[in-house]
Amino acid sequence: MMKDVNIAGALADLYTLQERDQELDKIKEQQQQLPPELVEVREKWAELAARLGQLKERYLTLQREYKQNDLEIRDLTTKRKQAEDEQMQSSSVREQTQFENRIQQLSTRIDELTELTLPILEEMEQLAEQIQALETEMAAIKPELDALEEKNAERVARLEEEYQAKLSKREEMAASISANLLREYQAIRRARKGIGVALVYAKGSVYRCSACSVQLPTHVAQRVYQGQQVVRCPSCGRLLWKGPQED
Ligand SMILES: [Zn+2]
Repeated sequence: MMKDVNIAGALADLYTLQERDQELDKIKEQQQQLPPELVEVREKWAELAARLGQLKERYLTLQREYKQNDLEIRDLTTKRKQAEDEQMQSSSVREQTQFENRIQQLSTRIDELTELTLPILEEMEQLAEQIQALETEMAAIKPELDALEEKNAERVARLEEEYQAKLSKREEMAASISANLLREYQAIRRARKGIGVALVYAKGSVYRCSACSVQLPTHVAQRVYQGQQVVRCPSCGRLLWKGPQED
């Protein structure tokens, strides 16, 4: 029976194709699996970078506060100088007293602001030291991180080369399989964890789908063994193949 040979043969080819597809999937998985040392150093780097970011942000906030206070102190100092000049030029006792009060007020405010500015400057100084220490720590890790990244990039590239070589062989093989069957297989594979065609295995008179383990009704198993049509597992929907045995 010509048809029998064709279907069984096509499923056998499809099964071999699936083995290649699974190999390809495995290479893609390996590409994603990062070496533990790289993961560790990347995490450490990210942690330091996050802390550095926080410190720099705090530093900028303080710097803005400092500049604002400084501007206000300069402004008040100018005003006090003006008041002092005007006081010197005035001959009225009443005006003298008014200027005296004004100068006193300005001086009090300048002192307050100066006192507020001191702890800001102190914190800025501490922050600058911490920032420098962190930057030094990061600079010390950088060569190790770069080396690990480079090694990993090489590893991924090697796997990619292997992948592309295997992929072109796979495509060559796929070209010999009927387009409809291939499409069906690929759709099932996508939906069903990478397995589109499953073996039937027999234990005594019990037949099971090797992918989902469901027990197949006898008439379904018979149709698979007859190999005259494409049969799908009634439970998982995968294409069923009787396997390489001759019977
Ligand atoms: Zn199944």
